[in-house]
Amino acid sequence: MSYDYEALLERARSQLPVATIKRERLELPELQHMIIGMRTIVQNLGEVAEILNRDIHHLLKFLTGELATAATIQDSKVIFQGKFSKDTIERIIRRYMEIFVICPVCKRPDTKIIKEKRLSFLLCEACGAKSSIKTI
Ligand SMILES: [Zn+2]
Repeated sequence: MSYDYEALLERARSQLPVATIKRERLELPELQHMIIGMRTIVQNLGEVAEILNRDIHHLLKFLTGELATAATIQDSKVIFQGKFSKDTIERIIRRYMEIFVICPVCKRPDTKIIKEKRLSFLLCEACGAKSSIKTI
């Protein structure tokens, strides 16, 4: 009796718990971060926003609020006024994820932001939970 490779692979796959196939958590890309003079440039913030499935302007609004500075967007590149370390920016992006991306009920990232009247909610596509979030 012999198994061919495909059959073995199929067998291994069928034994994986569902959770490892579904998107369990988001992996942030390495920030392409540079400090030039008194400005901080993040080349791939657009990519980050895309992975989080959020509008870059929304993400940026949160970042500039937390950093208490101004920023400009050029395509997917963002230029902040002032010097900020990569760790600082990453930490704020993670806080953004906790507030605006991760479902507080099931902890999955498959959510979207909906607006009703003047309120914003995080609607989870995995468990259906609707959680109120602050408007920024
Ligand atoms: Zn959920």
